[in-house]
Amino acid sequence: MTACHICGWDFKHDYSVGDICPCCNSEYDFTDFLEKGEILERYCGNDKEKLHNMAPELDGYDDEEYVARDITWRFIRLAWIKKGCPFKYPNETITSWTIEDAKKQLASIHYKYDALVPLANKIISD
Ligand SMILES: [Zn+2]
Repeated sequence: MTACHICGWDFKHDYSVGDICPCCNSEYDFTDFLEKGEILERYCGNDKEKLHNMAPELDGYDDEEYVARDITWRFIRLAWIKKGCPFKYPNETITSWTIEDAKKQLASIHYKYDALVPLANKIISD
């Protein structure tokens, strides 16, 4: 897997523990290593109903239980979208970055930006 699981940025090489995505600023195996209680507080403002609506899979989890990666990626992705999909560390290959680029990048990992926006608008992001 060379594409960021969260935003779709192509690392052009396999990435692993400690690699930070220059686009969405996620650190693989760190940013996405979360307990249910952390997700509830950070992304749902401790609103259990909201958490249930966004991730019904977590209903049976204890608060201290670590959450499966595909679920943590979902929350981090939505928070990034809510912020307007900013490119964190532009470089010489990224001189301009627009929401259209972000949409294409998300599509490359099979996410439709327009479908995610209503969910992103519900999430709490720092
Ligand atoms: Zn990324």
